[in-house]
Amino acid sequence: MAKRIVEGLWDCPYCGTRAIGGLTKTCPCCGHPQDTDTRFYMGNKKHYLEADLAAEYGQGPDWVCPYCNSLNRIRYKYCSGCGAPKESASDDYFSNEEKAQKKKMAAPPAERSPVTERKPSRKKPVLILAVILALLAVVLFAFWPRNYTAEVRTRAWARSIDIEAWVTVQESDWSVPDGGRTYERRREIHHYVQVLDHYETRTRQVAKQVYDGEETHTSYSNNGDGTFTENTYSTPRYRTEYETETYKEPVYRSEPVYETKYYYEIERWVTDRTEKSSGADNEPYWPEYTLADNERTGYTGEVYNMALLAGENRYTVYLPLEWWETFRAGDQVEITVSAGKVTKLNGREL
Ligand SMILES: [Zn+2]
Ligand SMILES: [Zn+2]
Repeated sequence: MAKRIVEGLWDCPYCGTRAIGGLTKTCPCCGHPQDTDTRFYMGNKKHYLEADLAAEYGQGPDWVCPYCNSLNRIRYKYCSGCGAPKESASDDYFSNEEKAQKKKMAAPPAERSPVTERKPSRKKPVLILAVILALLAVVLFAFWPRNYTAEVRTRAWARSIDIEAWVTVQESDWSVPDGGRTYERRREIHHYVQVLDHYETRTRQVAKQVYDGEETHTSYSNNGDGTFTENTYSTPRYRTEYETETYKEPVYRSEPVYETKYYYEIERWVTDRTEKSSGADNEPYWPEYTLADNERTGYTGEVYNMALLAGENRYTVYLPLEWWETFRAGDQVEITVSAGKVTKLNGREL
């Protein structure tokens, strides 16, 4: 596309008149000329120059008269304000603008307003901290150990002995252990494997980018002579289209793998019964038992406990035999309770 020239606008820095046409070199209200304080800008409504006039612009930025500061067209040999020759000029519209920009950046920063600094709110963290502390207090209250004097109400004991017998049992496995006597073999499913069965044709939607014409973009560059050059360029535009695509998907089936499973008889120690004894007295004893020729004793267990009463609360404690033996019903004991459990008895950890 062809380049087109648009007339820019400027504001009179002297009398404040706004949106004066860039080609108007002096303010129509006060007569002040375009000078080093003049800045050209684009208006909302674009005024395109006729072709013959447009040809005269965009040739180069206006030059700045070093004597009266007014802006002069590049083709003028003498300043239209004071008649000074162009040769004496060193600045043009852009170099002057650059200088002004540098001056502005070098200027000392304006005094800070005391109100604008915003401090981050402290309210939220304080609230969160308060909630955490409250939760911590609740947990501490529940777990904080407390001491009571308690009375031993009852004492009880229980003992047990497992009796094991060497007997013939039936088992099955993929192999026979030493001593096993196989009485049956069967083909059984050991595991499954995934086997490719067939392919299935399926369809799916596929997104494709399709060319959809050109998109035109426009930008304006400042010529520094009261005009702007309109630059247009285009980029291709695409739209998304969906196509149905067929594809093949493998379908698998589970196939069992058979192996020989052995059913056999073998001798094992098997818990046959548990002999028990218990009481609420001070003389615990082991349960009596008799062993047949093929029997032996297995696991043995023993527990000794006391029921304690502290005010309204009942607690049960389990003790090793030697310690349990030292108490009698009616004894006064000191206990430490934490989270509903007795953790210490007469100062000793449980
Ligand atoms: Zn003016
Ligand atoms: Zn001049």
